[in-house]
Amino acid sequence: MEPPPICSIDSLCSNQISSLLSPPSSLLLDQYYHTLLSSTHSSAINVQQDPNFGKGVYAAMPFNEGDLVLNDRIFVGVQHCQNKIDCFVCSFCFRFIGSIELQIGRMLYLQEVNASENHGCNEMEMDSSDEEESSQQCGSGSSSKTKIPLPEGVVESLMNGQLILPYSKEFPLPSPVPCHGGCGEVYYCSASCAEADWESSHSLLCTGERSDPARREALLKFVKHANETNDIFLLAAKAISTTILRYRKLKANNFDEQVKRDKSYDSNNHNFSLLLEAWRPISMGYKRRWWDCVALPEDIDSSDEASFRMQIKELAFKSLQLLKTAIFDKEYCNNLYNDPEFIFVSDLVVASPVEDYFLYIDDLTDPNKEEAEKITQPILDALGEDYSICCQGTAFFALQSCMNHSCCPNAKAFKRDEDRDGQATIIALRSISKGEEITISYVDEDLPYDERQASLADYGFRCRCPKCIEEEP
Ligand SMILES: [Zn+2]
Ligand SMILES: [Zn+2]
Ligand SMILES: [Zn+2]
Repeated sequence: MEPPPICSIDSLCSNQISSLLSPPSSLLLDQYYHTLLSSTHSSAINVQQDPNFGKGVYAAMPFNEGDLVLNDRIFVGVQHCQNKIDCFVCSFCFRFIGSIELQIGRMLYLQEVNASENHGCNEMEMDSSDEEESSQQCGSGSSSKTKIPLPEGVVESLMNGQLILPYSKEFPLPSPVPCHGGCGEVYYCSASCAEADWESSHSLLCTGERSDPARREALLKFVKHANETNDIFLLAAKAISTTILRYRKLKANNFDEQVKRDKSYDSNNHNFSLLLEAWRPISMGYKRRWWDCVALPEDIDSSDEASFRMQIKELAFKSLQLLKTAIFDKEYCNNLYNDPEFIFVSDLVVASPVEDYFLYIDDLTDPNKEEAEKITQPILDALGEDYSICCQGTAFFALQSCMNHSCCPNAKAFKRDEDRDGQATIIALRSISKGEEITISYVDEDLPYDERQASLADYGFRCRCPKCIEEEP
């Protein structure tokens, strides 16, 4: 039997791949995080490398309980395929857009369409993150048995703005800005988010009329495959597109200078070092290759692990072949396409203003409450439990990804009322002194010892935090 194709690429480009995947030197690491932190005005923390434990985030000043430790912008992120039915959000910052009425009308309309067509999203469950389980509980459309449909025409008038719900003006949302590439697939909260997304990755991934027809067709195949298998491939595509566009920009800025300065200039070598530079944000967050860190599904016996890993590796390879056909750039190195997702990804969660709206109505006092509920109660009955579905996805955060795990963490990811977009917000759980490492828990830290260790095995380590040492049998 022929060896799986991915192995031949691994060996053909092994030098470049190992350069792309090799851990950065501590000098590079210091420079990179120094620049990153100063660009985000975060003087409160720093990133340091420990020879034994790798990178970690440390307090550069003392924090009190409840203090904001870090607001980490999304480097790349995607909304889960299923979640796109329930939540209408900006494709760049993941803020909810439109209006309360549009959010509700669109969700009811798309759930109906989805139930009758059963299109698209049949994700296989193989995410590397354990929090996945908890997020799936608030997933889409599961509570249909308790739902009472609205009278004909109500969903339409919610969507077209004819029906205005009481007090909805208390929850204003930005007007949706469509992608100017004309794909009709993505919307934004503002022209600046649209521009930033176009500049950073969407110009390569847009399927609108501005893109070449052959590329569009190839892209659609790639997206279909990702939706049918795992939408982490869409995140990988964004990371790769971002790298290509960064690379092109670096090249355009650098090329003339280099040629002028150096007669014996080796363009191949130079291009590869620019590529490494463009790839830097990803390489800084690199942990392991995706197919090696995906948790083994419960219904797969551990003796079949090797064949499972080979299967998902082939899936990743197939996905990247499709992507390569779509956005392959001749001057761009082959080997980047070989690796789908090996950065440390986190859940992306943004609370829903629709949930806030119904809670607000519930908190009103009579007679206002009674009056409002005449209109809102049937809508709530039609939504069932889905009224509270939050925006969910996967993202790579450059700084949060450096935070190490502890089962007795001193900080946690927590969205405050004012945090309305996809940024990661880290809050101190207790006072933290200057120089102390800032830790978060990757798993539910209240689980018993064995379950914690089993969950953490997916992240590739055995926890030796004070709590684990104490509870070790
Ligand atoms: Zn936005
Ligand atoms: Zn587009
Ligand atoms: Zn522990």
